[in-house]
Amino acid sequence: MKDSWVRASLKDIPLYYNPKVKAIRMDTSINVLGPNTCLDEVLNKCREMDLNQYPAPYSDGLRRALARKYGLHEDNFVVGNGSDEMLDVVFKSFMEPGETVATPYPSYVLHSFFVKINGGRSVTADLAPGFELDPDALLKEKSKVIILCTPNNPTANTFDHRDVEKVIREHDGPVVVDEAYGEFAKESFMPLVDDYENLIVTRTFSKAYGLAGLRIGYMASNLKMADQLQRVKIPYSLNRVSEAAAIAALENPRYVEEGVKLVNEQRDALSDGLRALGFKVFPSASNFILFKSPVPSSDLVSRLAAKGVLIRDFGKLRLLEDCVRTTVGTEELNRLLLTKLKEVMEEW
Ligand SMILES: *Cc1c(COP(=O)(O)O)cnc(C)c1O
Repeated sequence: MKDSWVRASLKDIPLYYNPKVKAIRMDTSINVLGPNTCLDEVLNKCREMDLNQYPAPYSDGLRRALARKYGLHEDNFVVGNGSDEMLDVVFKSFMEPGETVATPYPSYVLHSFFVKINGGRSVTADLAPGFELDPDALLKEKSKVIILCTPNNPTANTFDHRDVEKVIREHDGPVVVDEAYGEFAKESFMPLVDDYENLIVTRTFSKAYGLAGLRIGYMASNLKMADQLQRVKIPYSLNRVSEAAAIAALENPRYVEEGVKLVNEQRDALSDGLRALGFKVFPSASNFILFKSPVPSSDLVSRLAAKGVLIRDFGKLRLLEDCVRTTVGTEELNRLLLTKLKEVMEEW
């Protein structure tokens, strides 16, 4: 391959986070109860499926199930291969090459990845102290699209509902609210999708629903916008096994409820335990916690990984110097994490 063949804007694009260590994964913010309990039954049923047939191009069965769950119309929804695909479809649909997308900073790393691979440019507006959203700073960028996630990854706080609504109301263009951790939060923008011309809410089966390996996500917006997004999405992008599992998971709300309950029971204790070890812990409204290490975070993470527990290092990012993120685990997992962290700090 000649370098000159590559699209100029993509020559320096790095590979995504791809850790090679064998360790207990507390770095991905998934449901720590293990795979969704609906899976045994639904995967058995999949044996009888005609998997020589294509899935429905727009996953109508799952869209109907989502419509029932939220009290919306099935045509409010677009579903696909993870909410990551949904983000890709949004930028493909609305952004001309060279146009800008505004995102708060720090936030989800892949937002700017999807902007870049679609030929756009990310502009960021720093979060205010306490990682609060600064709506005016975002609006001031006059970007084509605005995207934010609440609860925010990796800072773990939710943004003030009024601040987000201000962004939706005052931005002249699509606004994406990424609710990947929405099941853990008290508020959602999902009920508002028909109220705004420009609101898109994305959600996923990867986190609270415990189905990350099956890659299922969805977005909702008003009917006109959803219709446009649907036409851009790659037909058949959600496979039949994943669609069946997602429908079964919606019929098994108890698993999600238990995951949320576990987080509510364990989060404060884990935060206290981290503080007792000398870490600065940021407030969390989700199933993960961001905390700041008094020793270099890259060393902390690699030494902890050598002891069998993997957490995620964000310490190279501006405003997150020496910060790391861990999933809130079960009581047992959290104890293991704290024990190993204590050893690392004592050996330091
Ligand atoms: C994990 C995550 C996603 C990705 O969800 P998938 O459905 O697995 O593609 C999207 N946004 C945020 C903020 C996330 O943390």
